[in-house]
Amino acid sequence: MKQRKIIVIGGGIVGLSAALYLSRRGADVTVLERDRIGDGASAGNAGILAQAHPPLPRPGMLRSAVRMVLDRKSPVFVRLRMDRSLLPFLARFAMACTGKRFMDSMDVLCDVGREAGACFRELVEAERIDCGYSSTGWLEVFRDRDHYEAALPLAELLRERGYRVRERTGSEFRNAEPAFVETLHGGLLFEDSGFAHPGRVMDGLATAVRRHGGTILESCQVERIVSRNNRFRQVLTTGGETLEGDDLVLAAGAWSTGLARTCGLNLPLQAGKGYHLVLEETTHRPTTTSVLAESFVAVTPLEGGLRLAGTVELAGLDLSMNTTRCRQLLRGAAEYIRGIDQARVQSTWCGLRPLTASGLPAIGWAGGLDRVFVATGHAMMGFLLGPLTGRLAAEAILDGRTSLDLAPFDMGGRLSAGSSPPPSR
Ligand SMILES: Cc1cc2nc3c(=O)[nH]c(=O)nc-3n(C[C@H](O)[C@H](O)[C@H](O)COP(=O)(O)OP(=O)(O)OC[C@H]3O[C@@H](n4cnc5c(N)ncnc54)[C@H](O)[C@@H]3O)c2cc1C
Repeated sequence: MKQRKIIVIGGGIVGLSAALYLSRRGADVTVLERDRIGDGASAGNAGILAQAHPPLPRPGMLRSAVRMVLDRKSPVFVRLRMDRSLLPFLARFAMACTGKRFMDSMDVLCDVGREAGACFRELVEAERIDCGYSSTGWLEVFRDRDHYEAALPLAELLRERGYRVRERTGSEFRNAEPAFVETLHGGLLFEDSGFAHPGRVMDGLATAVRRHGGTILESCQVERIVSRNNRFRQVLTTGGETLEGDDLVLAAGAWSTGLARTCGLNLPLQAGKGYHLVLEETTHRPTTTSVLAESFVAVTPLEGGLRLAGTVELAGLDLSMNTTRCRQLLRGAAEYIRGIDQARVQSTWCGLRPLTASGLPAIGWAGGLDRVFVATGHAMMGFLLGPLTGRLAAEAILDGRTSLDLAPFDMGGRLSAGSSPPPSR
């Protein structure tokens, strides 16, 4: 039987995971990556494997929206710009902030989170990826009692769905987490989660793809997706190459919208810019990964230093480094972790998260164009969910059906969960 030829656009965690699951099953896979593996969001993120993490659109988010637009120091910042896509996106985002939509999303994310955690672990173990994988849970840390109490209903919701959440306040918190300042109120430990070193996961995935026979072409930018008779045929690169395939996986992160447009597809995503800085080894090191609730800074103890990550800037596909905003991460963390303001900054980075207005990823067959599987929009959860999405892409392409229902990820009917026509060309 002819070997199935599959092109994957994007060498982030979603694209590499899809390539890995496809090549494991004997498909002929080529990943096209514009930059280098390990430059983008998939390597620069906070490394938290937070199962059942709530989506960005949530009740109460709109109340702070005006402040966020105006305040350049806010952890969420919207740069008002002449972009016809931004306002409709914000309108749809606002509609997803109701209590009902939030609960629907949480139902989906609670189910998917557990499966994604198992999938991540399976991949790391089976492919022997040395990435400092840790299952010590993630900690949400609170300075303020009111914020802590406001977070308890969500903790309860997770417990009702079978997750383990431990409450730690007062001396129990201080004994367990001596790296934090004494004045904090406490924390919630989400015990089913963990963390890993994102850059090392990406290196390990790339090695595994190649070991299973897949090809990865770096510095290879796709300019256009070409279809004929409503079916994917080939991609054209900026270097003038033409690559043909039976199927296409579109996993270009925040850039997926522009690429989709080249073949007539409408995938309305926005880029959510985030920053990280790495501090040289600090005297006080938290025991596990944490999110500092009031400042929205994620802190992860990785080999080689403490990584502080955060902010969501809706500023388009702009990768310019705003040093002031990046350093705000340090200010935000200094109020929680002892001695952190004395630490030397080793490196800084920024990257783009692919955001959907619903807060749920976009996974499924492109409507109206055969053999294009879309896998993007993972927002703040892509490091955890990426391997599972990759597996689902491989199932959809090779089996014509998936082990999880893709209906919640259809981007308001733009994508289809159903099987696509047989592979003959
Ligand atoms: C600061 C920050 C912290 C985060 N923390 C966490 C966390 O703790 N836990 C978590 O689960 N998630 C986290 N995330 C989110 C997570 O990193 C993303 O959801 C995930 O990396 C998205 O993966 P992706 O493969 O879809 O996209 P990307 O990693 O962006 O990969 C897409 C790739 O496509 C390539 N590409 C684009 N256009 C083209 C083209 N025309 N031709 C060829 N290649 C192209 C890009 O160069 C890129 O490498 C964080 C993100 C940020 C920014």
